[in-house]
Amino acid sequence: MLETDYDVVIVGGGPAGMTAGLYASRARLKSLMLEKMIMGGQMMTTTLVENWPGFPGGIEGPELMMRFQEHCVEFGLETAYGSVDKIINNGDTKTLIVDGKEITTKAIIIATGVVARKLGIEGEEALVGKGVSYCATCDGAFFRDVPIAVIGGGDTAAEEALYLTRFASKVTLVHRRDQLRATKILQDRIRANEKIEMAWNSVVEKFESDNSGLTGAVLRDMKTGETRTIDIQGMFVAVGVTPTTSFVADLLELNEDGYIKSGEDTLTSVPGIYAAGDCRTTVLKQVSTAVGDGAVAAVMAEKYIDELDHQV
Ligand code: NAP
Repeated sequence: MLETDYDVVIVGGGPAGMTAGLYASRARLKSLMLEKMIMGGQMMTTTLVENWPGFPGGIEGPELMMRFQEHCVEFGLETAYGSVDKIINNGDTKTLIVDGKEITTKAIIIATGVVARKLGIEGEEALVGKGVSYCATCDGAFFRDVPIAVIGGGDTAAEEALYLTRFASKVTLVHRRDQLRATKILQDRIRANEKIEMAWNSVVEKFESDNSGLTGAVLRDMKTGETRTIDIQGMFVAVGVTPTTSFVADLLELNEDGYIKSGEDTLTSVPGIYAAGDCRTTVLKQVSTAVGDGAVAAVMAEKYIDELDHQV
């Protein structure tokens, strides 16, 4: 039998990683789950999760993730904080370089998820923490009784706009088209909320600021080309996500947007390495699909390790 530190190392501690950890440790594999930032991943900055079955009325993202974590360590999963710099494929074994240290394993499950995309406009970085934010649940409460804007038209933008009406005096939802991408139930809630004003066919052209931070934004109408300034003290950017895959860009096949190519079996282009959740090519990005992926990846890894250990 091959001698390695672990049978399987799971990279990423969100819903996909935790489910993979639960299945792998319950299958009696020596398993380690590594997380770079916060156990629970994106769900830790989510408010009410309404589409995770079994919780009529919804459950708060952090509470759900605390339950996931409690559950996944029940069967002996080891968890640790660490950032994976690189993965080396030695064939039957793999080496992870984690904060400069080496960890050897037979199989790896990558469940690193996605991070919020930036607008890419001049001055954006300097205004982070001074009015510009990528997380409504983290920063929303700083904007009590002042006007703010949310940029984007997807589920995240819609959920953030609705959440932020708890604090802000007015929320302008700025979307580059004349129809939201967000799911219909969120669209209905946006329409019904008097605090939300839509800025259709509009993009942010420029930030306005003074020494204290953001004071406004210049919006450009995509159809007429006209510009107008809105007075806002906060801007929540929700224009989509980028997969956290740069550390495996030289090792695994990625698609043109950087997502890890894998099929229904979660297998990547390298035998023994699986991808689960939002970081892989999927048609849907939900807790439920991430959980399904985590389970599949762990079972596939178990089969792979079994064959590896019994090869003649
Ligand atoms: P998304 O669905 O990709 O939506 C991004 C939005 O930003 C789109 O409306 C897009 O416009 C707009 N956009 C992109 N680049 C832009 C730019 N440079 N300037 C202005 N607008 C720009 O991203 P997301 O909302 O973060 O959601 C990511 C995934 O997570 C999705 O699959 C989503 O369904 C899922 N999610 C699910 C839930 C839930 O089920 N409760 C909650 C949050 C997220 P266009 O529409 O014109 O492309």
